[in-house]
Amino acid sequence: MSLVDPFNRTIEYLRISVTDRCNLHCLYCVPQGDIPKLKHEEILRYEEILRIVRVGIALGIKKVRVTGGEPLVRKGIIHFLNALSSLEGLKDLAITTNGVLLKHNLAEIRDAGINRLNISLDTLRNDRFKFISGVDKLDDVLEAIQLAEKLGFSPIKLNMVVMKNVNEDEIEAFARLSLDKPYHIRFIEYMPMGSRPGHVNPGHIPTKQIKEMVQKISPLERILRQRHDGPAERYRLKGARGEIGFISPMTNHFCNSCNRLRLTAEGHIRPCLLSDRELDVKTALRNGANDEDLAELLRKATSFKPKAHSLIPKESSLLYPGEMSTIGG
Ligand code: SAM
Repeated sequence: MSLVDPFNRTIEYLRISVTDRCNLHCLYCVPQGDIPKLKHEEILRYEEILRIVRVGIALGIKKVRVTGGEPLVRKGIIHFLNALSSLEGLKDLAITTNGVLLKHNLAEIRDAGINRLNISLDTLRNDRFKFISGVDKLDDVLEAIQLAEKLGFSPIKLNMVVMKNVNEDEIEAFARLSLDKPYHIRFIEYMPMGSRPGHVNPGHIPTKQIKEMVQKISPLERILRQRHDGPAERYRLKGARGEIGFISPMTNHFCNSCNRLRLTAEGHIRPCLLSDRELDVKTALRNGANDEDLAELLRKATSFKPKAHSLIPKESSLLYPGEMSTIGG
């Protein structure tokens, strides 16, 4: 029994936001101002998430990514990662983090069986890190990246969201990191999300333009896609130890290979990042749903997956619904 959507895409991947809280306040991700946080009881408990994952695995979920908010700020996260990684049938467990608290957790993350890391990093400059995120913590992230390399994490993916007039001038510096380091640098087109007042929406730079900037260093050699690769187009700079990837949700959306569902921090299943249609699994769980009821909700969410996210905004004023900080990216 597997989860197959109306467009014949098999769903094997669940992204779980374990909290809406974050220790950074990135200007493009977390709405500025006094935004209410979810209350403790509004967030799914770990054992509730584990139940959903168990049911998902029985329906063919093979990969789980833990995200947030910032997953490492949630109490008990390491214990939870251990519980996830011991679930039979789960082939791939990964985490996405801003890296600020990572150095303190790396050894335990590795011991929980996670070997691959995605670290979000939009700048290599201290002043800009503070401008984007509101805190002066770049050195902690850089230290964590070095330590992760020493501890043998592989691959270490550094995800940079490229924003017009914010960090586009650092594209080359990020790409150059892949020359001597085994890092996978991922350039992600910024998506205009968030509809709350005070949300800052810088423009995106199309992948084509990012690629041209990178190719000033040296030609890019294409790396053949593997079956379970994510949406990144993969390349290597000539002679580089690491890789370069481009993720283009704006200019070349990858909906036809979408294989994922999302579980939000407040316990909703979201069939598509860019559609606000969600199914409330938390209420079902807390009203005594049995595993078959939960399976039915996962099947229903799968059946709600749109063929593609409905439109690629042509104007920066057009916003996608939802806040990345609660959905988890
Ligand atoms: N706190 C974790 C982190 O920083 O990786 C996980 C959650 S964060 C919401 C996940 C990713 O979403 C980050 O890489 C962030 O840069 C990205 N993101 C947030 N808003 C975005 C947007 N509007 N467009 C593209 N990526 C975005």
